[in-house]
Amino acid sequence: MKIYKDGSFKGIGIGYAGEIEVLVTITKGKINNIKFLSHNETPVISEPAFEHIPTKIIETNTIMVPNVKGCSMSSRGIKEAIMNSLIASGKNKEDMIKEFKNSENLNKIIISKNKYKPVENFDVVIVGGGGAGLSSAIAAANLGAKVVLLEKMAAIGGNTLVSMGGINIPGNDAQISKKIEDNPELYYNDALLGGDGENNKELFKILSENALDTYNWLKEEIGVEFKKNELIHFGGHTVPRAVVFKGKYAIELISKLRKKAENLGVDIRTGVEAKDIITRDKAVVGIKALSDEKNIEFFGSKGVIFSTGGFSGNIEMRKKYNPELDERYKTTNQSGITGDGHLMCERLGVDFIHMSYIQTFPIANPLTGALSHVGASRFDGAILVNKKGKRFVEELERRDLVSKAILAQDGGMGYLVWSQEIESVANRTTNNKAEVNNLIRSDLFVKGSLDECGKKMNINLTTLEDTLSTYNLDVSNGKDQEFNRRGDLLNIIKGPFYIQTVAPAVHHTMGGVKINSENQVLDIKGNIIKGLYAAGEIVGGIHGTNRLGGNAITDILVFGKRAGEKIMKPNTH
Ligand SMILES: Cc1cc2nc3c(=O)[nH]c(=O)nc-3n(C[C@H](O)[C@H](O)[C@H](O)COP(=O)(O)OP(=O)(O)OC[C@H]3O[C@@H](n4cnc5c(N)ncnc54)[C@H](O)[C@@H]3O)c2cc1C
Repeated sequence: MKIYKDGSFKGIGIGYAGEIEVLVTITKGKINNIKFLSHNETPVISEPAFEHIPTKIIETNTIMVPNVKGCSMSSRGIKEAIMNSLIASGKNKEDMIKEFKNSENLNKIIISKNKYKPVENFDVVIVGGGGAGLSSAIAAANLGAKVVLLEKMAAIGGNTLVSMGGINIPGNDAQISKKIEDNPELYYNDALLGGDGENNKELFKILSENALDTYNWLKEEIGVEFKKNELIHFGGHTVPRAVVFKGKYAIELISKLRKKAENLGVDIRTGVEAKDIITRDKAVVGIKALSDEKNIEFFGSKGVIFSTGGFSGNIEMRKKYNPELDERYKTTNQSGITGDGHLMCERLGVDFIHMSYIQTFPIANPLTGALSHVGASRFDGAILVNKKGKRFVEELERRDLVSKAILAQDGGMGYLVWSQEIESVANRTTNNKAEVNNLIRSDLFVKGSLDECGKKMNINLTTLEDTLSTYNLDVSNGKDQEFNRRGDLLNIIKGPFYIQTVAPAVHHTMGGVKINSENQVLDIKGNIIKGLYAAGEIVGGIHGTNRLGGNAITDILVFGKRAGEKIMKPNTH
């Protein structure tokens, strides 16, 4: 058994969003208490790490504990902080670092919130705990259903939680106060233009006509709050129409949906992975699942709703449907988004649509694939150059074209370059400090004189200076001669300069299961599969070739709520 020196010792570790500071108390040679003094980790996602890692370290009196799957960066940061406290208590530094490194090699674990019984009976079984699954659960429970929601990760939220939190609502209150005229028809037309007319028109009509009601439902019944009078104007929309959840990402949305679901008695089971669909007399009646290596069967007398999200994280599936999107691409998605629902439905004979339409996001972290919020400097006026210091694409081109252009450069990477004139417009670095610090630690971001930045990033300085003087001359003449950049042009003259390394990552899958307007899943002959419903990114066809920014969250909430209602009361709309 390990013996530590008695006392209280502070330590700092680096998690997902920067420093985590702890105070470790040792009594009679044993780790007795771990107190978190400060951290900025993302709520909900990081909760399992904060619950599990300290408990396990106290229980085993060692930092040799595995990371929690889905929040491994937070787990790592917590362990590193505790390791540094133990080093401060006098433990040998080299031994502790070795122990810490070994703990990083242990298989990640999933913490399960599941009380084990081999067979369980409900009215409705929902698979996937993102925005679509939670809103389905609330809608069904509101109509009196006994609902279980299965989530394979240690925390609920899926991609919804980490989204930028922008949701398009035509006719919203922020538009009204800014006197922006908008309506469902205009919204529908924009989405169809963005999707090259290949959208399922019936489904997008439902989406556009129910967006405002769903927004009011969120505010009035779920208690979701939005940033006052703030709108995002995503590409392809005629007017600014995306309202934004209060706070960071969509934490506000997921926390409030979870609270409402719990209040309605929805049984939320994390750490439970759906493995297959159970049928009887050709109707879907339940789900075979795995939790803590034990098999469980969940039966739903009304049926099953699939809301497992897309398949951006499944490289084999990506390559099958769109061979270009191979291993070179990382993904912006959460680690649980691996097309499980698609695969289970495929085995059942479900029909699919638009599976090759996969969207990439051009400005992501080349090492992790995380979508870059700092890199939104592209919209403020930053230019993209390659290692030679030359521009190679119009920075505001469509996501897929910018992505392809970046991949065609040396090392498959691009460099966003901006300066103080641009930084002072939107304060991207001050508003995203945690991301900037992570990028600096990975040598992907630098701030300083042009000389310092160019050298650090190994970009040809002479060409970069030429590129900037040509660009700045174009800015003074009001026209970008080289790439005809749209929008207002801003000078890149005044230091400090900022250079960020970026690469594209797979972001969204437009293809998925075919449903009818009642959210019922269809088989390859076009017949309804009794008892099987779907909502959210798993559903294909709604967005055509290309989903416009801010349309996914509207989609998952409109159709999530609808699926919960339809499974309880078919044919009510
Ligand atoms: C970084 C980022 C930013 C984005 N920003 C925006 C934005 O601002 N606006 C917008 O409109 N869209 C945005 N999107 C897209 C949008 O977030 C997603 O399309 C949407 O959240 C999908 O919701 P969902 O409920 O269908 O799936 P998700 O929220 O992804 O949830 C699916 C859940 O199912 C679980 N699951 C999967 N398989 C199983 C299984 N076998 N058993 C049990 N559970 C399972 C997963 O773990 C996950 O929790 C963004 C996406 C990303 C990645």
